[in-house]
Amino acid sequence: MAEGFVTRFAPSPTGFMHIGNLRTALYAYLLARANNGKFILRIEDTDQERLVEGAVDVIYDTLRVSGMKHDEGPDIGGPNGPYIQSQRKDIYMKYAKELVEKGYAYYCFCTKERLDSLHETGDIGAGYDRHCRNLSKEEVEKNLAEGIPFVIRQKMPLEGSTGYDDVVYGHIEIENSEMQDQILMKADGFPTYNFCHVIDDHLMGVTHVVRGCEYLTSTPKYVLLYDAFGWERPVYCHLPLIMGKNEDGTTSKLSKRHGSVSFQELVKNGYLPEAIINYMAFTGWCPKDTNEEFFTISELEKIFSLEGISKSPSVFDYDKLLWFNSNYIKKLDPDKFIEMAKPYYRDELKQYADNKKLAAMVQSRVSVFPEVNEKAEFLLGLPDYDTELFVNKKNKTTVELCRDILEYTIPVLEGVSDWTNDTLFADLKALAEEKGVKAGALMWAVRIGVSGLAVTPGGATELMDILGKEESLKRLKTSLERIK
Ligand code: GLU
Repeated sequence: MAEGFVTRFAPSPTGFMHIGNLRTALYAYLLARANNGKFILRIEDTDQERLVEGAVDVIYDTLRVSGMKHDEGPDIGGPNGPYIQSQRKDIYMKYAKELVEKGYAYYCFCTKERLDSLHETGDIGAGYDRHCRNLSKEEVEKNLAEGIPFVIRQKMPLEGSTGYDDVVYGHIEIENSEMQDQILMKADGFPTYNFCHVIDDHLMGVTHVVRGCEYLTSTPKYVLLYDAFGWERPVYCHLPLIMGKNEDGTTSKLSKRHGSVSFQELVKNGYLPEAIINYMAFTGWCPKDTNEEFFTISELEKIFSLEGISKSPSVFDYDKLLWFNSNYIKKLDPDKFIEMAKPYYRDELKQYADNKKLAAMVQSRVSVFPEVNEKAEFLLGLPDYDTELFVNKKNKTTVELCRDILEYTIPVLEGVSDWTNDTLFADLKALAEEKGVKAGALMWAVRIGVSGLAVTPGGATELMDILGKEESLKRLKTSLERIK
């Protein structure tokens, strides 16, 4: 096993953690852990116009809640800090100047007006015509001395091609003539992402760059920078897109119209971070030699490998996530379930949030926490229901049969002193036998009689156990009156 991989998660603070970014973080994290490595958090905020207040906290929260512990980062420090790019501003100019010295970059003094007019003529698309590429040393020095604003551009080779081997996509090769002389340092003194992430990755000792595939074809520009400095290139691992399923069956890049796309929103909607992480791990990766699907993050840390990453875009399957979530909810300790479900109860149902019997009944039956509401609905009282609910094919019940059942069952229930699910169940089963009716038929009559609902979160005796003797009998009598 290779040792000491250094990976990083380098989000831009947008105030929102898209699940695609979460997956990038997860794979980078797992790759480091699986290879006795280090996982670094770096905040990429050089685009000062797009800063969002509180956005960095969203990043910290996501990593903490999902169980990804970084080894270095702005909040915990480390030997390669600072870890926020805007605080590293002074580092980059020196490297840009080094490239100018070596002939791999140049000062560009073109004004905005000139650049705009270039684009208007349309000859070079959105590109730059390399006007300043061959300014003489004297001209450059004169301009600098006069304080003319400048940017520093990368001097792309004009011939040949540049390639690299991506772990997921294989060999990527781009004609040098197709690459723009991109800006490395902006006029405001800030570096561009294209430049500073390379410097940072090198200075922070990053060995494996894991990120979204939108950078796949710009990476040749970055490897040219490594080569120009004489630095060792990192291993690149670009991840395919996560797609969403459209109503017409086609797929497109996962976005809001497919459902919740941020980690925070999913958590708010009642998904457990453990379930999200487990599902995300499988969105684009699968383990070797096993069909097992349930893994905690610490188990994933042991088995994650680059070989299992798929090159084809994966479709985000909300049903599958729901299935994972229901399984994780089932496994929660009952008290933990109560505590976690509590905030999701509607106001009128809040009073039942601590009811252990209710919780025990619904825990195995909800897929996401907000569903506790529909499950607890029966507690609010007998609705004004249609008596046709008493008719059930499978149990061969009719309204008349249910009426008879309720007639003789109510007095029996009145005599029950140990009002628990087990006793009620045993007593009603014995009663059905004695009366010569199917237990299913008797239970049906009681369940409808006590709830007035076609679908209930539990059987007749479970519901009665939770409602208590007085309320159950009151409801059964009301129901009997309705069908008499
Ligand atoms: N700040 C970039 C982003 O959020 C990071 C890309 C990278 O990992 O290099 O897309």
